[in-house]
Amino acid sequence: MMMRFSELNTPLRTIMTPGPVEVDPRVLRAMSNPILGQFDPAFTAIMNDVMVMIQQVFQTSNNWAYPVDGTSRSGLEAVLASIIVPGDKVLIPIYGRFGHLLTEIAERYGAEIHTLDCEWGEVFDPDLIIQEMKKVQPKIVALVHGETSTGRMQPLEEIGRACREQDILFVVDAVATIGGADVQTDKWFIDAAIGGNQKCLSVPSGHSPITYNKRIEKVLLQRKKVERGIATDSELEELRNTPFIRSNYLDLAQLQDYWSPRRLNHHTEATSMLYALHEGLRIVLEEGLDHRFARHKYHEQALLKGLEGMELQLFGDIHSKLPTVTCVKVPVGVDAESVRHMMLQQFGVEIASSFGPLHGKIWRIGTMGYSCRKENILYVLASLEACLIRHGVNIPAGEALQATLDYYLKEKEGVMLD
Ligand SMILES: *Cc1c(COP(=O)(O)O)cnc(C)c1O
Repeated sequence: MMMRFSELNTPLRTIMTPGPVEVDPRVLRAMSNPILGQFDPAFTAIMNDVMVMIQQVFQTSNNWAYPVDGTSRSGLEAVLASIIVPGDKVLIPIYGRFGHLLTEIAERYGAEIHTLDCEWGEVFDPDLIIQEMKKVQPKIVALVHGETSTGRMQPLEEIGRACREQDILFVVDAVATIGGADVQTDKWFIDAAIGGNQKCLSVPSGHSPITYNKRIEKVLLQRKKVERGIATDSELEELRNTPFIRSNYLDLAQLQDYWSPRRLNHHTEATSMLYALHEGLRIVLEEGLDHRFARHKYHEQALLKGLEGMELQLFGDIHSKLPTVTCVKVPVGVDAESVRHMMLQQFGVEIASSFGPLHGKIWRIGTMGYSCRKENILYVLASLEACLIRHGVNIPAGEALQATLDYYLKEKEGVMLD
């Protein structure tokens, strides 16, 4: 018997997680444009525009800025796979789950791993990392900028400067901050920075925008391999003894040829996804980076007012708080997952739990991209309060929304950030 499947009819949600987040309807419309061939000048023009916009969002003058196809970890893996030669020393300071991800990827490509650890909920004193760099003398330091699992943000400039002085490659996971908090690739001496679509850029998951400078490119060119099917004879001869990059799909040396005017064929660029990224980046730049960062901060503060009004405790050191993720301690005796499910089922509001040692101990509320709006902040607070009361938590009912409304009504006279 033939099975019948009904047409998709997804529920409308208010998504207040650290990704994926809601997408501006303009991005969804862009995705419905007709398909173009990958070498059609109409399409390569879009590719070129996207490169320039990625360069601007990363605040860099790097020649190379383009998206890797795949989720954000494809960008992380592409950079690490392309620069790690087995045996290379890589120093990874870990302050949450995504530091472990960097370690996991670097290990698979044969790096000699050195890690530093700190308490979850804190970040590193840059001097500590710099001391360790002197001791280990790694080829690469890989570090997370915004650690979504703990809601912390690591200051990077001092570490970046020290890397440059010691001739170490500085690789930064900026997945959770790009488009939501300041990421100054050049000023902070970042050699390779990796972003993600579905966090503050507010584009569906499927690309990882990256950028890297000449120091990284030099390593790539030493490891370059052109595929047998498309290489010239002299290229094949030259490449016989190179320590080539072990991944084909994530080989940046090949990817950059595809994104160069040469358009040397690699994968088939994800057409509709690129339309989405194009529109998402356009929206970010239209808003302006400074305004966008200020808007994220503005609504984060509104959220904090409400949580305070509810007398909930925040998790982690407030001085290193990531503006795009707020971690809230689950009150003692409350079933964290039961509250989350009730919020989703009754209000259609989604917040996140966390990973590893923090699972069940904190909730994470994202304020990212298109989701980071006044009505969403008010709605997440209202639904959280109602569900906490239903779970028998003794909180001052009504205070949260009033505190947040006070903030919005007062602040509105200042800069218009709604
Ligand atoms: C979400 C996230 C990732 C992984 O992203 P995927 O798109 O799920 O692959 C990596 N690093 C950080 C800091 C993140 O927040």
